[in-house]
Amino acid sequence: MSGDNGFTNKRGLPEWYHDLYWAFNYDATSGGKRRSDFSATGLIKPTQITVLGERYGDLVTEDIADCTWKLLGSAAHSAMYSMQKRSMARMVEEGVAPRVRPVLERRMYTSILIPGTDEGMVTISGAPDRICIDGVTRDFKFTSAWTHVFRSRDREWKRQLAIYNWLGFMYGMDVANQGEICAIFRDWDEKKMMSNDKYPRINVGFYEFDLPSPAATARWIQGKVEEIFACRKLPDDEQPECIVGGEEDDVWASEEKWAYYKSDKLVKATKLFTSEEEAQKRLDVEGKGHIVHRPGERKRCAGYCGVAPWCAQYGKWRQEQGLPPLDVPTAKEA
Ligand code: SF4
Repeated sequence: MSGDNGFTNKRGLPEWYHDLYWAFNYDATSGGKRRSDFSATGLIKPTQITVLGERYGDLVTEDIADCTWKLLGSAAHSAMYSMQKRSMARMVEEGVAPRVRPVLERRMYTSILIPGTDEGMVTISGAPDRICIDGVTRDFKFTSAWTHVFRSRDREWKRQLAIYNWLGFMYGMDVANQGEICAIFRDWDEKKMMSNDKYPRINVGFYEFDLPSPAATARWIQGKVEEIFACRKLPDDEQPECIVGGEEDDVWASEEKWAYYKSDKLVKATKLFTSEEEAQKRLDVEGKGHIVHRPGERKRCAGYCGVAPWCAQYGKWRQEQGLPPLDVPTAKEA
C-alpha cells in the first residue's frame, strides 16, 4: 500500500508509518452514511480554491511529514468524542443532566435547489462536534496560539458554525443561533505568554459567536453554491480572487516591513516600520544600527493551499515580488 495512499514520503519515514496514512484520506463528501456534494468545511473555503481543487485535486500531493498536526487534530477529535460520550452517560446516570443528550458528531444532510443547472439539486453535509441541549452549536479546534493573537479564523469559524446551526434547524433541532469554538492551542508557550499581552493566557480558549438565522444562512449557502457553479465555467485566470488583507483576508497576508536593529548583535528587531522612510528616519536619529527589509507574505498560498501552483492570482503576486514561478505538477508524485 505504501506510495499508493495519496501521500508522499519524501523524508523517508518508516514504511509502516507511511502505510498508516492510507486510513487518513477521509473525504466528508463521499464518506459518512451517504454522499454529499459539499461539506460545511468545503463551503467556507474561497471559491477559487474550491474550483481549482476540483480541476487539479488529483495532482495535489501531501507529504506525511507535513501532516503531523492534522494527525494530532484528528486524534484529539476522536478523544474528545469518546470523552463527551462518557461524560454524557455519567451525567444522565447521576441525574444531573436530562435524558435529552447533545448531538455529537452526527453528520447531517440537506438538499437545496440550484435552478438552471443540470444537477438541479445539491446536497450539503456537516458534522458539528456538538449541538448542545441549550441549542448552542459547539466545535473543537486544535490550532496555533497565534490564531488567538491575530483572530485570523473568526470569520471561517463563524460561517462553519452557522452552517451546522442551519443543518440542525433543518433536522428539527431547537437551535439557538449561537455558536462556540473551543480552541486548544497546540503550540502554546508560557514564555511567549509572559512577553506578549495579546498571547492567550492559557492553552485553551473559548470564542462565542452570534450566528445568523437559519434563513439567512440558507441564502448565503444558496449564493455560494451558485457562485461555484458559475465559476466552474470560467478559465483558471478568471476565477474570483481570494481576498487579501482586512477582516475578510483569505490568504493570511502579512505586510512588508522594515526592521530597525539598534545594534548588529541584536537578534530581535528594535522596532518594525511599515515604510522604508520611517525606518531610515529612526536610523538617522539613533545614528547607529541597521535596517532589514522583510517582504510581505501570503502564508496560506505559500504553505497551506494545495492549488497554489495553478493559481493565477498567486502566480502574479510572486512575479510582482520577484519570486520564481512554482513548479506545476503534471502527474501525481508517488
Ligand atoms: S494560492 Fe492563495 S490566492 Fe490562490 S487560491 Fe490559494 S489561497 Fe487563494
